[in-house]
Amino acid sequence: MSSPTILVGEKRYALARGSLRPAAVSEYDAIVLGAGGAGLMCAAVAGQRGRRVLVVDHADRPGKKILISGGGRCNFTNLHTAPDRYLSANPHFAKSALGRYTAHNFLALVEKHRIAWHEKALGQLFCDGSARQIVDLLLDECAQGPVELALAQPIRAVEHADARFRVTVGAREVVAPALVIATGGPSIPKLGATGFAYDLARRFGLKIVEPRPALVPLTLGGEEALFRTLSGVAAEVVARAGKASFREAALFTHKGLSGPAILQISSYWRHREPIAIDFAPDQPADWLLNLKRQNPRTTLRSALAATLPARLAEALAERVGLERELGNVPDTQLRASADRLHAWPFHPNGTEGYAKAEVTAGGISTAELSSQTMEARRVPGLYAVGEAVDVTGWLGGYNFQWAWASGWAAGQAL
Ligand SMILES: Cc1cc2nc3c(=O)[nH]c(=O)nc-3n(C[C@H](O)[C@H](O)[C@H](O)COP(=O)(O)OP(=O)(O)OC[C@H]3O[C@@H](n4cnc5c(N)ncnc54)[C@H](O)[C@@H]3O)c2cc1C
Repeated sequence: MSSPTILVGEKRYALARGSLRPAAVSEYDAIVLGAGGAGLMCAAVAGQRGRRVLVVDHADRPGKKILISGGGRCNFTNLHTAPDRYLSANPHFAKSALGRYTAHNFLALVEKHRIAWHEKALGQLFCDGSARQIVDLLLDECAQGPVELALAQPIRAVEHADARFRVTVGAREVVAPALVIATGGPSIPKLGATGFAYDLARRFGLKIVEPRPALVPLTLGGEEALFRTLSGVAAEVVARAGKASFREAALFTHKGLSGPAILQISSYWRHREPIAIDFAPDQPADWLLNLKRQNPRTTLRSALAATLPARLAEALAERVGLERELGNVPDTQLRASADRLHAWPFHPNGTEGYAKAEVTAGGISTAELSSQTMEARRVPGLYAVGEAVDVTGWLGGYNFQWAWASGWAAGQAL
């Protein structure tokens, strides 16, 4: 079995094991564009099936997003992975790949590589050590087959003729009957993320579902900009947009709202629509009336401060206009105040954009792809995997699980 190799300028060298040796092959069974989680998984699976695979990336290191993920510990999967935790124009599309390569499959790989892991809340699995271990796992898996890596190489041209894809990588031409688009989405451009996948897919006539930043902080303007004075304050809330709701922490920032509950809801939020925040998720609808009967001398501010940070409790009581003792407030006003606290409307004026978005929602339309193999229906030999595709997971390891599952599905088919 040959070692993975790395292209440096014009020469290709063995990446692992053995001495550095130049090589000259330019024909492959498959060329994978993008050495992120999806591309590396796809290459490893195809390589282990005996396919000669070249993985090309313009970055100088593979798996840059993996390295910074999960605060450096990579939230590599989620035990509660299920298709309804993904957004897509076709909610059924992800079922096949997620069903055939599950969180437990990836966990078995993690254990095979003796990577210590732990479960945080909500089924999220993290490395005990470092995200680097997940990149090493993927490179080791690639090393089990004839997989080569060409890093720090711009993709200058992609042509398709006679059922073969010809890719100009740096100053070199490589050819294969299969091409995998695994260059992700444009989130976090400073890490080398681009919209290349969409440009290339469009050139092949594939439709794109309008991409948008997701898992991203929301910005507040106008009257609501006043909430920015709470910057740094966090609380457990239920955030809602349309039919979606998430109970997690929300954080006020100097630009608006962030924290897991907001990142989650941002994927469902659409411009000009409000979101609603329940600041009293454990209280029944009539809790202020009950409180008035039990303790008429208490104030809304002190009632809220029992579960919320003092600054937030004060700001909410002030905005509700209920600063008197509850015993002096009419029931109708208490009911209206409780309703408002259970569904506080915010009108975000935007998001913090791709610079701060953990993922990109939208992408290559699933209508163009086989859900079994990720192959483009009208361009045999062309595949798309990972974040480049219109499948976007919740926060919490779901996006890597999609990268592994979709990469695995294509790797099986190459
Ligand atoms: C800060 C942050 C933290 C995250 N944490 C988690 C987490 O803990 N758990 C989780 O599940 N998800 C997490 N995500 C999301 C997750 O990283 C992505 O969903 C996942 O990496 C997508 O994998 P991919 O292989 O499809 O794309 P990517 O990982 O983006 O890989 C695409 C590759 O293509 C290359 N590329 C792009 N354009 C070009 C081009 N024009 N030419 C050549 N190469 C190109 C890039 O350099 C990159 O190596 C996080 C994302 C961010 C930004």
